Amino acid sequence: VENISKIYQMGEVEVTAAKNINLELYQGEFVVILGPSGSGKSTLLNIIGGMDLPTEGRVFLKEEEITKYNDKRLTNYRREKIGFVFQFYNLMANLTARENVELATEICKDALDIDEIMKAVGLEDRKDHFPAQMSGGEQQRVAIARAVAKNPLILLCDEPTGALDFETGIKILSLLKKINKELNKTVVIITHNMPIGDMADRVIKMRSGELVEIKENKNPIPPERIEW
Ligand code: ATP
Ligand code: MG
Repeated sequence: VENISKIYQMGEVEVTAAKNINLELYQGEFVVILGPSGSGKSTLLNIIGGMDLPTEGRVFLKEEEITKYNDKRLTNYRREKIGFVFQFYNLMANLTARENVELATEICKDALDIDEIMKAVGLEDRKDHFPAQMSGGEQQRVAIARAVAKNPLILLCDEPTGALDFETGIKILSLLKKINKELNKTVVIITHNMPIGDMADRVIKMRSGELVEIKENKNPIPPERIEW
């Protein structure tokens, strides 16, 4: 991400959501973004994932400039390279757990085996459940399965534990860490839950649209060993 700025024009008012952000993410990294509400975390994540375009600056995947893409190529980038996980899961209510995952893989070239992924997230026996028939943690695991099954390069998670109780949240974070390690996926997580930083390779802090601090952890602590 090179010199990214994002300005929203709201009638007379200009909102600067991101200001001159430079950031490089490495393959297989586990990165946590912290910062107060309104500091531009989601804005940055959405720009990285091609969900939103910056007002200024450029986004690259390796040598490729995403910000030069037309709509069709940008859509393909989102579909094939990026997996999104949201706070409120955003599952299709009328599809079962397995069907939710299956639908996402239909538009991807390098999709992983759905049943293997369902097993990896611990949902073998919930495959035929509809979202309303599952707990919040289970629904979030379906959402993670859906994001991972596409076999993306990067998993972008916007407050993935924000709607979950504490214990369930830790389980979800452990699962994301497992995916990061075992599948070598780059994982970026936005959170308000500070201790998560201890399990990350890097912790990025934002304030008022700016990247104010990057802290590197030489020895990230496994989630189960963190004192929450
Ligand atoms: P939170 O922790 O509450 O989710 P955040 O750090 O993710 O906050 P953003 O959602 O990135 O913050 O918003 C950054 C700023 O940009 C905020 O002041 C917000 O009001 C503004 N903003 C975000 N999206 C839009 C939009 N679509 N139109 C106008 N302003 C926006
Ligand atoms: Mg946000």
